Amino acid sequence: MLHHERLRPPSHDYPADEWNLIEKRFHSEFLAQLETVLALGNGYLGMRGCPEEGGPNAENSTLINGFYETRPIIYGEEAYGFPKTGQTICNVTDSKIIKLFVDDEPFWLPDANLLSYDRRLNVKSGTLDREILWETPAGKQVLITSRRLVSFVNRHVAAISYCVTLLNAEAFVVISSEMATNGPSARVDGGDPRQTRAFSGRVLHHRTSYSKDRRIVLCHATEKSCLTLTCATDTTVETSCPHAYKVAHTEHFGQVAFTIEARPRCPIQLTKYITYHTSQTASAEELCGRAEWTLDRVTAQGFQQLLASQAQYMNDFWRRSDVRIADIREDRTKRTTVEIQQAIRFNLFHVLQASARAEDTGAPAKGLTGQAYEGHYFWDTEIYLLPFLTYTSPRIAKNLLTFRYKMLAQARARARQLGHRGAMFPWRTISGEEASAYYAAGTAQYHINADIMYALRKYVQATGDELFLRECGAEMLVETARLWLDLGFYSDAKGGKFCINAVTGPDEYNTVVNNNAYTNLMARENLRYAAETVESLRTAQPDAYNALVHKTALESSEPEAWLRAAENIYVPYDEKLKIIPQDDDFLDREPWDFQNTPPDHYPLLLFYHPLNIYRKQVIKQADVVLAMFLLGDVFSAEAKKRNFEFYDPLTTGDSSLSSCVEAIIAAQTGDMEKAIRYGMAALLMDLADVGGNVKDGCHIASMGGTWMMLTYGFGGMKDDDGRLSFWPRRAPQDNAILRFPVTYRGQMLEVEIGAETVEYTLREGECLVIRHETEDVQLTREHPVAVRPVSTMRGVIR
Ligand code: BGC
Repeated sequence: MLHHERLRPPSHDYPADEWNLIEKRFHSEFLAQLETVLALGNGYLGMRGCPEEGGPNAENSTLINGFYETRPIIYGEEAYGFPKTGQTICNVTDSKIIKLFVDDEPFWLPDANLLSYDRRLNVKSGTLDREILWETPAGKQVLITSRRLVSFVNRHVAAISYCVTLLNAEAFVVISSEMATNGPSARVDGGDPRQTRAFSGRVLHHRTSYSKDRRIVLCHATEKSCLTLTCATDTTVETSCPHAYKVAHTEHFGQVAFTIEARPRCPIQLTKYITYHTSQTASAEELCGRAEWTLDRVTAQGFQQLLASQAQYMNDFWRRSDVRIADIREDRTKRTTVEIQQAIRFNLFHVLQASARAEDTGAPAKGLTGQAYEGHYFWDTEIYLLPFLTYTSPRIAKNLLTFRYKMLAQARARARQLGHRGAMFPWRTISGEEASAYYAAGTAQYHINADIMYALRKYVQATGDELFLRECGAEMLVETARLWLDLGFYSDAKGGKFCINAVTGPDEYNTVVNNNAYTNLMARENLRYAAETVESLRTAQPDAYNALVHKTALESSEPEAWLRAAENIYVPYDEKLKIIPQDDDFLDREPWDFQNTPPDHYPLLLFYHPLNIYRKQVIKQADVVLAMFLLGDVFSAEAKKRNFEFYDPLTTGDSSLSSCVEAIIAAQTGDMEKAIRYGMAALLMDLADVGGNVKDGCHIASMGGTWMMLTYGFGGMKDDDGRLSFWPRRAPQDNAILRFPVTYRGQMLEVEIGAETVEYTLREGECLVIRHETEDVQLTREHPVAVRPVSTMRGVIR
């Protein structure tokens, strides 16, 4: 069964709402899934969406990006160069616990008689809000409202406002604001290699703990990675009901318990301010001091101020990033316009949460919504997140690229270990060291080096940040170009062409292959870009060139050798099928028996031994098809169509990174039915739990991919030659309107694609020239230019 045929229209249960993701009823069986979906984060700190009171089987995890512990990787059989040490993100001190007792009865969601329940992730305000009416067994009605935020403005801060009001009676109320360290380090169901390995025993070791009035400070450190963490909370209460409190703490626990004589209709307002500080170098004392400064400041400002600054941050984000749609034809998508709008914003919000304040770290594959993939950074960042970030939040894009630059020393060392020249970036990592224990689907993915350079080029073209290129980019280009030149060779068997053998492309179902087309094509770009950059520095910026020579010991003959390899790179081509074979042997493999593969045997990786998969013609995720998107200019329209028609039926979509790319190429080749079907799967990957594993964390790459699908796919955006152009794709009789902003070289353009016209408005900046189809369009600020797409081009390939 084909991938797109297996994709039932995904369904989910969230009421349609443009800005909120609403949970209307408490279902304990969906708790883990909702913890992921309703997670809050800012790229540094992430809190899963667990109820403050805890819940059955809840994975109460709070994660700090880059806060990990190491563990030895145990191989059945060792081999030279296998990474010896794994890195796993740890579950840090849980600070969001607030327990409620009314007349000594605990408020425990699964058992509570809930007269009303409403929990919502508000992506406009960046908060998680809840309102519950609970009737105690004694018939007392208790209104509980809460609002939680993880601040984008101050990345060390989270806060919870928690208000309890007895409606129809008086009662003795206890509200216990707690923090606890050393919950389970990870959830493991077993058998799924995508999940994280749990540590046995304690991961966070006590350094110091103390309390001052209602402030509690807990400081811990990891044993092997030597990272120190301080978590501190301050809890205030405002009420006219008589109350008192007690504070207690141990090495791993802290508690401020308020006892209140609650009167009817007299609110008890609790506010909990939370801070996290982490460091590899600072002492425990210093980190505690930092945590206290932060708390002093935020408690003085108050919760309203935190909310206001969060709202301002979100406004600014949406101004630069919101993709809006209107008048979608529901019979095509099986979704209302509001539902689609909701899904778009939900995806973009989570990409922001995964990356916004990722400073000196990468963006984990699951963001900070879950521990799957061990909190590791992959190529997902460069290929799936950076396009969105580059065109909407270039500062975040730059931070992520800078982080790669800071890994260069380790990447050089890794290249040397594998006997290569240049630098070799890790396939998966937190610390910069390779942490992939399965080389066939890990270290062999050399393409990550070219992917990072591809993202660098897009970033430099879109922002004009030549300084970054000079100071960081050029050095990475030199080292990655050296890697490719060292890795490949001129093969007599291939007519003297430059071949790259024994690598794995993006498709992890065909591993350690020769001449993976994606890898060769991307390596070619990498080699060319390196040569071009070095040459332009040499001729135009001698000082920068000399500094580069100094840093890299560059020899003047090197760029020419890179160019020669690039011009001679071997790109497989099959004359009979007129397609680009994925690798040298792909066409010789036996076709996978899709007919007799039960639908519940996907993803194949969970049901078949790798060898059964590797020897067959079956694909995990877009590979050649991805190259056709990333390197759009290299392929003619006919070539795209032919290759897509060939590869699409072989692609299982077992990786969530596939659907968005297939949607783009389907749109570009005029197959709008398929584009919509894949597009919906990508858009609802997490909301509808398409892969059945949302409980382990959001699919952040696919979320970033939804932006690419809307802009590059349906919006027909192109930037291959460094210029912005648009050639929108639409289905016949489609009246949908798609609007999105794009920031290009500091100016902000808004594109509105309607049924009859496409309108371009320069919202910020003075003057910008873009291309519409084949014509240049000159834009000046706030003077919209409307153009009519050539009608015969609707839904037709160009
Ligand atoms: C995909 C990789 C991806 C990783 C993390 C895997 O299933 O095959 O391409 O980098 O997930 O998202």
